[in-house]
Amino acid sequence: MPIDFSSLPKTELHLHLEGSIPVEALFELVKKHGRQAEAPTIEHVHRRYEFDDFAHFLEVYKWTVSFLKSAEDYEFAAYEVARSLVRQNVLFAEIMVGLGTSIIEGGHDSAEIVRAAWRGLKAAEVQHGIALRMQVATGRQHGAEYALERLRDIEPLLGEVDICAFNMAGAEHTDPLPQFKPVYQRARDMGLKLTVHAGEVSSPDDVYDALDLGPQRIGHGIRSAHDPALMQLLVERNVALEVCPVSNECTGAVKRLADHPLPRLLEAGVPLVLSSDDPAMFHTSVTREYEVAHEVLGVDCSTLVRVAREGFKRGFMDAALRDRLLQRFNHEAKAWCAERGVEYPV
Ligand SMILES: [Zn+2]
Repeated sequence: MPIDFSSLPKTELHLHLEGSIPVEALFELVKKHGRQAEAPTIEHVHRRYEFDDFAHFLEVYKWTVSFLKSAEDYEFAAYEVARSLVRQNVLFAEIMVGLGTSIIEGGHDSAEIVRAAWRGLKAAEVQHGIALRMQVATGRQHGAEYALERLRDIEPLLGEVDICAFNMAGAEHTDPLPQFKPVYQRARDMGLKLTVHAGEVSSPDDVYDALDLGPQRIGHGIRSAHDPALMQLLVERNVALEVCPVSNECTGAVKRLADHPLPRLLEAGVPLVLSSDDPAMFHTSVTREYEVAHEVLGVDCSTLVRVAREGFKRGFMDAALRDRLLQRFNHEAKAWCAERGVEYPV
């Protein structure tokens, strides 16, 4: 019998707003902007989200962003993304707002879209009781100076919007990470936590470079599994990986889901959380990531409950919220385990 992970309390710590808009919500935007010629039905939106490799994925990503034309669109999208998490018993999430394509090609203003997305997230918090934070991200391909400009844009918003972290996404092969050291230093000085996409499709060296930026977490980092010394370093530095198996298969970062290195990383004791990255575009969800880890990769349920708990320990939140959410997690997860005859992890 497949195990239902939807009711297990979870976090979502690696989630791009633009790639997480449920297809039904994106179709609303398609209609609003009169672009049914590109996607006449929801099914067509679904089919748009099929790609061959990482480069193609970035193209489709741009297409999605092209529907976020106004502050209202961002607010609507953020609210709908949050609602999709509530349905999966996600208690805490960090939603990443990209300040790359949306600014360069969409002509948006950073402060405007950050404020708008925050309004959507706040509405979801109030209505559904989920705890939400926002990350801001730029892409490596836009360079260090561009990232510093975006940090300048958002600095005045820090007291107003709960921006918890700076992240860097984008194409790994375009720009090596060492040039972003001043960017990460600046973000740290602004009081932001740090995470960075690295070692997804490139090599363990990229993860070593990421560690030099001083992040609390690393997005993906799955190439670490090829390097035992690096896995040991992640343990020593206590840096957690945000692992997103289905995304890795969709972008071709791993050839077959069954070959995903998640079990190897767990065996080496590397701290990690499970996330879904761009769930709408990858036809996944954070619940599905747990199912895949169990059914395809053979990770036992007790270990997965421990991974879920790890999310609450690694999330960028204050101590009071963490205590409250961990208490709730312990209560609900113990009941979840008892119902399924799963040993509750120590
Ligand atoms: Zn990502």
